[in-house]
Amino acid sequence: MDVLDILRRQAGRFQCPRCGQSLADCQLEMVTHHDEQSLVKVTCAHCQDARLIAVAVAAETETATPVIDVRDEPTEELGVPISPDDVLDARLALGGHAGDLKSLLR
Ligand SMILES: [Zn+2]
Repeated sequence: MDVLDILRRQAGRFQCPRCGQSLADCQLEMVTHHDEQSLVKVTCAHCQDARLIAVAVAAETETATPVIDVRDEPTEELGVPISPDDVLDARLALGGHAGDLKSLLR
């Protein structure tokens, strides 16, 4: 079965987290495919916001329903270099941290 084809048909149900437009016209690109787990890169057609989603397709079900799990921080797993956006996110997260360093690293 073609995961991208399934996603393409379901994409219209999802909205871009950045611009709020429908993802019906988004670009879909398979990044990795392993057993029932796929990582798919979704690029919004409206704002070009690209993010990775993890898709799990149960092989035994005839009518496959992908479980779409939008990951906020997939870069580490894929070995993609940290972008300036990631650094900014980390800074903002650290800035809002109320505990000491030890509790942060735990
Ligand atoms: Zn968008």
